[in-house]
Amino acid sequence: MTNRLIIAVSKGRILTETLPLLAQAGVVPTESPETSRKLIFDTSVPGVQLLVIRATDVPTFVDNGAADLGVAGKDVLIEYGGDGLYEPLDLRIACCRMALAAPEGFVLDGSRIRVATKYVRIAAAYFAARGIQADFVKLYGSMELAPLVGLADCIVDLVDTGNTLRANGLAELEEIMPISSRLIVNKASMKMKHEQVRGLIDRLSAGVFAE
Ligand code: AMP
Repeated sequence: MTNRLIIAVSKGRILTETLPLLAQAGVVPTESPETSRKLIFDTSVPGVQLLVIRATDVPTFVDNGAADLGVAGKDVLIEYGGDGLYEPLDLRIACCRMALAAPEGFVLDGSRIRVATKYVRIAAAYFAARGIQADFVKLYGSMELAPLVGLADCIVDLVDTGNTLRANGLAELEEIMPISSRLIVNKASMKMKHEQVRGLIDRLSAGVFAE
């Protein structure tokens, strides 16, 4: 076993907000993952590499040991499910909320509803806990469109500023849960590369709590 350590991160807001935390922990990619089309990057630390992949693939890579660590949104982690990953640190980045939203004037009156969402597991648990009968339409993006074209009565989606909802005539009915990105660790890596992994967790954690 080499002392190679692979960290999986997704492009976009998570990458942008993870890079300064990694830099504080002494890990700096040798070229910018934000502009390069490469998918794997060497860093200032010999043996430590960064993978840039799709957000929903981060838990898969880490669970299967293709990456030792990863950064993933709590939304993605809940939808991925299972108990194969350690989640030792809330990085407090890419913060937003999972929310129920519907066209202005919509009321939950107890009748069966149709919900468009990418987050079927979170949405199903939410409606089940409230005893509301719901059918789900799984979408991979542009959920806001669904109520406007009759595909669903309401949506469950991530909301940050609320601008996307407002621009599409939707209003937030309820926050389902706050969301932030978490550091995840492969269980075998935590054992086999304990010193290296623990050191990185501690340095990242010092950066998070220094904020
Ligand atoms: P906003 O218009 O600022 O409320 O942002 C909402 C849009 O951005 C929705 O389409 C969300 O899916 C997406 N979004 C907001 N925050 C995040 C996040 N932390 N991770 C992934 N997508 C997000």
